[in-house]
Amino acid sequence: GRHREDLESLGFEYNGLYFDQDSFHIFAGLCAVDTPQNVEKMFKALREVGITTSRMGAYKPRTNPYSFQGHGRKCLPWLFELAGKYGVKCIAMEVTKEIHIEEIYEELERAGRPTGVMLQIGTRNAQNFELLKAVGSQKEFPVLYKRGMGITLEESLNACEYIASEGNRNIIFCLRGVKTNLGDPHRNLVDFAHVPVVKSLTRLPVCVDPTHSVGRRHFAPDGIQEIFHIAAQGVIAGANAILVEFHPNPEEALCDGPQALTLEELPHFVEDMRLVREAY
Ligand code: PEP
Ligand code: MN
Repeated sequence: GRHREDLESLGFEYNGLYFDQDSFHIFAGLCAVDTPQNVEKMFKALREVGITTSRMGAYKPRTNPYSFQGHGRKCLPWLFELAGKYGVKCIAMEVTKEIHIEEIYEELERAGRPTGVMLQIGTRNAQNFELLKAVGSQKEFPVLYKRGMGITLEESLNACEYIASEGNRNIIFCLRGVKTNLGDPHRNLVDFAHVPVVKSLTRLPVCVDPTHSVGRRHFAPDGIQEIFHIAAQGVIAGANAILVEFHPNPEEALCDGPQALTLEELPHFVEDMRLVREAY
């Protein structure tokens, strides 16, 4: 790519957290913010396992217009306050329009910056070039870019160049599975073999999203959650972060409940990923 050298950087710091091709973070949380009670349970569980990075969607791009679209700006004040209360330093949060960046900035300021936000570009906006330029032309927030589910890897890397070439090089590249026409027991074809590919083509930290790759809460024959297995594959491949969905009560989740892990599973997930990372 023309600007591939723009992606050369030695990592970045954000709100006391460091991200590069050796670092490791687990962004665990709800697909979509629903109630303060559920968000608080999630943050409390994260604090108990010593995790300060989370995921929470306020602006949800949905395939069906009648599905829950996210609480949007109005949940940000209490979301940020709860994050601060439980020591969450960074929330990965999708933005689908330029105005959302401003809303997040304003609400963080108003709340006294109790936490930080990483702007997520969802797979459906992987080539929304105006949105990419918008997150690229601000340096307040780092960006979690999710690869396009139906475009080439090269095209997704070029999309990151859009962000970097506008000035913001604080980017994490996230693999989240791709669509195929072959049929698949999973929601998407797991693409974690691309972790070392992306790490060698760029200097970006690479994240994996086992939740949207697998797409279901389901026990493998050995009695282990399939999502644990697939996440471990990402860690073995060298992932620098995991984006993963949990919910205190998946049955009442307003988005992606069937693929959410439970809070009882959280300590096991964290411990397993740490053990796998140590072993490789
Ligand atoms: C998500 O992380 O909740 C999400 C919508 O992911 P993706 O854009 O990868 O589908
Ligand atoms: Mn989701």
